[in-house]
Amino acid sequence: MGLRLFNTLSRQEEQFTPITPGEVKLYTCGPTVYDVAHIGNFRTFVFEDLLRRYLAFRGFEITHVMNITDVDDKTIRDSMAEGTSLGDFTSAYKQAFFEDLKTLNIVPAHHYPAATEYIQPMINMIQKLMDKGFAYQGDEGDVFFNIGQYPEYGRLTRINPDQMRPGERVSSDEYEKEGIRDFALWKAWKPEDGEVQWSSPWGKGRPGWHIECSAMSTTLLGNHFDIHCGGVDNMFPHHENEIAQSECTTGEPFVNYWMHAEFLLVDGRKMSKSLGNFYTLRQLVTDGYRPDAIRWMLMTTHYRQKLNFSVERLDDAIKAIERLRGFQARLEEWKSGTIGEADLGARAIMQFTEAMDQDLNISGGLAAVFELVREGNRLLDNGEMSHQMAGGVLEALNQINSVLGILDMSVENAAGLVDETTIQDLIEARKNARQALDFTRADALRAQLENLGIELIDTPAGTRWKRRNS
Ligand code: AMP
Ligand code: ZN
Repeated sequence: MGLRLFNTLSRQEEQFTPITPGEVKLYTCGPTVYDVAHIGNFRTFVFEDLLRRYLAFRGFEITHVMNITDVDDKTIRDSMAEGTSLGDFTSAYKQAFFEDLKTLNIVPAHHYPAATEYIQPMINMIQKLMDKGFAYQGDEGDVFFNIGQYPEYGRLTRINPDQMRPGERVSSDEYEKEGIRDFALWKAWKPEDGEVQWSSPWGKGRPGWHIECSAMSTTLLGNHFDIHCGGVDNMFPHHENEIAQSECTTGEPFVNYWMHAEFLLVDGRKMSKSLGNFYTLRQLVTDGYRPDAIRWMLMTTHYRQKLNFSVERLDDAIKAIERLRGFQARLEEWKSGTIGEADLGARAIMQFTEAMDQDLNISGGLAAVFELVREGNRLLDNGEMSHQMAGGVLEALNQINSVLGILDMSVENAAGLVDETTIQDLIEARKNARQALDFTRADALRAQLENLGIELIDTPAGTRWKRRNS
């Protein structure tokens, strides 16, 4: 049968066939580094990690690109409010993100392009769209994509053409589906943008968020690649706009499989920064929750189902993980140097693969794993497992864990830690702001440090700091 994946484009499970046999080119929309990512964001990133690991388990060679959005409406707004340069503001959050990825045992992507390093490819793309008549410059200097020129607009989100208002314009990166309009590719500089600007054939300004991903993905993976992922909220307008920009620029199909993770909820509502109902990884880890339990919780509900966050789920996760760890330890102890045939292990791998081949059916996959644990423990209890067989079963368990990424995680609750230089730099900036009597900025810097898990203690001798709860 082979691997089948649910493709948002067709709203169906499809046989997965890569463009080049044996190779997968994968693009996943990365974080906007204007704050520490919350565990809702990480639900999407953990799903993408499961996909990535499973593709590797199935023998594909993967090139994975995850972008870092380090210039957009939000990063500019918040860095200006703090009075910090965009680069200084985003770099601390970028570092925190990489630490969080490590804490959750997420396999690193091959490339992490930052939007600010790809301005030229974005300009080139916009120029092509202008040349081909898909884009125009408005009175205020912004350049817009003309949705009226692209009849296929709305294919991904299945937009009703009556909802479209070509000729009307929207400049902000995010907007509602109710008023689908021409969207901004390039935004002319405004005083609110401060020092953030690049020169372009359309005057100084900055790219829109959507063109960033089109330019970074096609530059690094080619015009046409295999899989593009994100959370369901990325479908509109972000991914819809990416398809329009990319296909109109290159004249080629953009992506074969679109995959979207459902939301992590809190009390039935989307976990989001704007609702204020979010938990960060650091916060949970500082409160004593284990990272492997958090990973388990985020991973073990099928990615296309909504998942309600609760701390009880973390307790259940620990029970499941400990059962697996206990079994692994028993096998470690019992196995001999030589690895024997282990039908039990082979059967578990087969059942695990059969389940996961169905659009990453994780419950089915875990049923196969716990069946192995039950049967393996029974044989061990009854003295019916040879030392060689234990080695074979252990190998099967470890292979399955190359997908789950749980048993190789530390059970210590090691919080990702921002390095001392970054902390000292932020403290220094706060000190300077206070000396300049700029208390708004000083407070914003204190808040940023707090977000990063750093507590400040002001003493007559200067400011000391400590990591929260450490
Ligand atoms: P952002 O940093 O806002 O661009 O978001 C990063 C990723 O997290 C995107 O793929 C979003 O779709 C995803 N995301 C945001 N909130 C949630 C949530 N509550 N549950 C799952 N994914 C989310
Ligand atoms: Zn994107």
